[in-house]
Amino acid sequence: MLTRFAPSPTGDLHVGNVRTALVCWMHTRNQNGKFLLRFDDTDLQRSDIKYIDSIMHDLKWIGMDWNLSFKQSERFLRYNEVLLQLMEEGHIYACYETKEELDIKRKLQLKQGLPPVYDRSALLLTEQCKINYEQEGRKPHFRFKLNRDEIVKWNDEVKGEITIATSHISDPIVKREDGNYTYMLPSVIDDIDFDITHVVRGEDHLTNTAVQIQMAQALKAKVPIFAHLSLLHFDDNKISKRTGGLSIKSIREDEIEPMALCSYLAKLGTSDSIEAHIDMQSLIDSFDIKKFSSSSTQFHLDEVHKLNSKILQNMPFEAVKERLTQIDSEFWYFIRNNIEKFSEVAKWWQICKSDIEPVIFDEEFIKIALNTLPKGKCDENTLSEWVKIIKEKIDIKSKALFMQLRLALTGREAGPELAKLLTFIGREKIIERLKMRNHNSAAIA
Ligand code: GLU
Repeated sequence: MLTRFAPSPTGDLHVGNVRTALVCWMHTRNQNGKFLLRFDDTDLQRSDIKYIDSIMHDLKWIGMDWNLSFKQSERFLRYNEVLLQLMEEGHIYACYETKEELDIKRKLQLKQGLPPVYDRSALLLTEQCKINYEQEGRKPHFRFKLNRDEIVKWNDEVKGEITIATSHISDPIVKREDGNYTYMLPSVIDDIDFDITHVVRGEDHLTNTAVQIQMAQALKAKVPIFAHLSLLHFDDNKISKRTGGLSIKSIREDEIEPMALCSYLAKLGTSDSIEAHIDMQSLIDSFDIKKFSSSSTQFHLDEVHKLNSKILQNMPFEAVKERLTQIDSEFWYFIRNNIEKFSEVAKWWQICKSDIEPVIFDEEFIKIALNTLPKGKCDENTLSEWVKIIKEKIDIKSKALFMQLRLALTGREAGPELAKLLTFIGREKIIERLKMRNHNSAAIA
């Protein structure tokens, strides 16, 4: 099996593209096949090298790799060669209409209630007409002549049996008057030249597939197997409508672990349950493209956040130790159950080990707390003993007591289990925090 992911380097990757990439990649890896990364940069004006870099960076971040990558702009000579061959065989023809002329034709057709399909009038041009146009300064654009009598059929790995009549499709423009190729033909040429066996892409390409099957047939090539994934829907207003989803950059900035996103995207819209996977191999092993539903799927960012917490909870110290300096395994195994994002590890470590600003409501309470702190090294029983002694001294509700201690010792209203936190803060710092505040308050008084 040989598949490819073919982004256009005209913007950053978003969740929708990455889902396609990941599904395609998993499909290949599951079958021990090869995966190719192709940059569809035929539109030289809109393509930018910076997006090639950012796309590669995002894919690597996700955990994907590829056996080969190339840019379509490296292959223009090859595309010209095929274009010429197809012209000689009558599959491609030159057209001279301007954009405005085409626009007028389209509007007229619509007015008459006809589908706005190109009328092929360029096929009637005489050689002299073409010469005249060129002398006028017009440059030709080129169209692929569809076989309108044929109903294109294929058995889609996701959508099942598909039939598309090409009678309502305009002959697609394959090369523009400015010399730029459109996406359509180079993609087919590359898929043939690189022996692509399976094409996985979004269902927005279904009509293109009908056209591209006819192109492959015109080139007497084997047609690959197609799998068209249903589109993701994003209902969150924060998500850009223009790009059709969240960017991977924003996902990364949101501190979502790549495996949380992979766990979600590899199973979203399938019959499998969505679970937190901490390694890619388990996802690859259970992958089956046939499990993808042909109806559209809703993307929920909060589900990814939930998976993120679960993934952090399941991560062994070995997997994170390079990302953590100072922090030991004992702290990791405690804190991982209490965080949603990785940066919270460092935050809680700082809270335990560095200076914080304690929050004090009741000076009297803090004085009692200081005087009743059990002797000896803090362990997990210290807090319960301490609370018992305080309660013997004053009449206070447990909730208020815990809250006051937490605020005084961590400066936060909420957080991980206090009993365990105290073991990391340590007796010395507990006293320091309680005293520091008392001393300050006394000074103010
Ligand atoms: N460049 C195309 C896109 O981004 C590729 C489609 C395909 O996979 O053939 O939609």
